Amino acid sequence: MKHSLITACIGALAATAALAATPADSRFASWPAYSADDLELRVDASGTHFTLWSPEAQAAQVLLYPTDRNSLPDDTLSMTRAGSGTWRASVPAQLYGKYYTFRILHDGTWLAETPGVWAKAVGTNGRRAAIIDLSATNPEGWETDRGPAIGSITDAVIYEMHHRDMSVHPTSGIVNKGKFLALTEHGTRTPDGEATGIDHLKELGVTHVHILPSYDYNSVDEANLAANGYNWGYDPQNYNAPEGSYSTNPADPAARIVEMKRMVKALHDAGIGVIMDVVYNHTAENDGSNFSFTAPGYYYRHNPDGSYSDASGCGNETASERRQMSDFIVNSVKYWAKEYHIDGFRFDLMAIHDTATMDRVAAELKAINPSIFVYGEGWTAGASPLPAEQRALKENVASMHGIAVFSDDIRDAVKGHYSNAADRGFATGKPGNEETVKIGIVGSTAHPQVDYSKGNNSKFPYATSPAQIINYVSCHDDLMLTDKLAASMPGSTPEERMRAARLAQTIVFTSQGTPFMWCGEEIFRDKKGVHNSYKSPDSINAIDWSLKHANRGQFDYYRELIALRKAHPAFRMTDAAEVARNIVFDKTTEPNLISYSIRNHANGDEWAEIKIVFNGSSEPVQVKVPRADWTVIAADGELSASGLGTSRGGKLQVAPVSALILAR
Ligand code: CA
Repeated sequence: MKHSLITACIGALAATAALAATPADSRFASWPAYSADDLELRVDASGTHFTLWSPEAQAAQVLLYPTDRNSLPDDTLSMTRAGSGTWRASVPAQLYGKYYTFRILHDGTWLAETPGVWAKAVGTNGRRAAIIDLSATNPEGWETDRGPAIGSITDAVIYEMHHRDMSVHPTSGIVNKGKFLALTEHGTRTPDGEATGIDHLKELGVTHVHILPSYDYNSVDEANLAANGYNWGYDPQNYNAPEGSYSTNPADPAARIVEMKRMVKALHDAGIGVIMDVVYNHTAENDGSNFSFTAPGYYYRHNPDGSYSDASGCGNETASERRQMSDFIVNSVKYWAKEYHIDGFRFDLMAIHDTATMDRVAAELKAINPSIFVYGEGWTAGASPLPAEQRALKENVASMHGIAVFSDDIRDAVKGHYSNAADRGFATGKPGNEETVKIGIVGSTAHPQVDYSKGNNSKFPYATSPAQIINYVSCHDDLMLTDKLAASMPGSTPEERMRAARLAQTIVFTSQGTPFMWCGEEIFRDKKGVHNSYKSPDSINAIDWSLKHANRGQFDYYRELIALRKAHPAFRMTDAAEVARNIVFDKTTEPNLISYSIRNHANGDEWAEIKIVFNGSSEPVQVKVPRADWTVIAADGELSASGLGTSRGGKLQVAPVSALILAR
């Protein structure tokens, strides 16, 4: 499983072929769909019922096992052809504790066994599905468990994290290292007494954690956890069961479910929502996937020669434009929202999916819980047969409903291009990025003072609301900000790089849209310069929590920055017309200088006006600020949400590589 291309932005690619011209795919259009919630397994008073969707199978069987591996089947059930492309078999007993697989006869050959595509509980390495009573997996108080209610995605502050990064280092003081349960531990401390884990998240003030893939993925051997295998998890195997290596016992199918729910409950009790990273765009295996073993060919797009098309850069791409696949995605996220109380979904390589499916995803999730939100990568990692106008590209975000996309505009303009380690950006002194940073400030919406023709990545205001935009300068992909600054600022001191990080994140957190950050940046951890650490060992990926004490000032700056944003709705406008009216840029001619105001008590803010000046150059700059009684919020690399002091305005000096923020 390679991860060299996936999730790296290479922008929109032109459509290469119309789907109708793909002989391998045209036949699937006539296949019936079946998406009732009894798919694959239902246990009720009358017994245990299996329903497999496989329209072209010549025969189908269920194999029942006493254990999750290393055993022969107790029984083999022949399935009977039923309606809408399904096969059915039943046993007049509740088979709790048993395991099962399906297999189908395809073109005269019995394919390998598969737990199906809808296994909600699995044993070790996800090879067999388990029959368990899901209602027995709920933690105490689950009935009344709720995530944080938010009015708009722009009210969220998103913290992207990996379970192992967060807890596996000895300095975390956490017992359940690398496990779902890590975030259920309160009172964990570093040797210096700094809070870690869930207490750290509360102290920082983020509203949501975005957990890297936590469904069952392929690459870490759950039978050998002592090997401490690491993977980001962008290699999906079972979409509807949690990953076993994050549980304390992968051989117990209930353990991973119980423990993930306990993590969600603990975060909800702390007022923090949980966003899942979902990767429906491809599977780890091609012919060997659960999709291929149940309905060969159907779930994937193909090239005209019948080979797998590969917009994921990982060997295949799924076909959301087909009804059964579209339903699969929609029903899968609905399942996670209902069964696990998940508060948001981040779609990997979302532009592999069609806009109609993404609209269904957002609408059906909002019907479950209006606070749920959906965002994704509005690009692919390779050419796709899906016509560009149907793809959930960032350029198409305005035609979708309730979907947000990552802004690679602000990302690359602030810190330098993601693919060129040495390249600098606005915050590190490279001129020419000013207009693209402004595109970020207005959340990629139309603004009379922003000239999109000068944008580095985007040439038109593709968003019609800031709620369609996720702003960031760093994520799990590519060099994290700390390493990017080290690579692009040779000869610099750590203090100079920390100052640049403060400016970069101040731009992100004060911009219109939703701010997003990668775990550990707030204590200035790094990944030793490894840009694609998807399978790097813990020595690269784990957060050394002793840095929190060493870099306490950096942490305090981030905490205050988050507090500032949460206290002031002016940074969280949802209406593009309001952004255009309330944000006024000052005329500046110096490179790496942006000065603007947010006026008119924007979005109901207590502040009449917020003056924000970013100086990304290595020289101090003088700006003229109207005479008034200002509160100084940020100056010379320091920031306090409640104010650093006061100013009467007039001619003010903005220190190199810093933000000046005044409010009145
Ligand atoms: Ca797994």
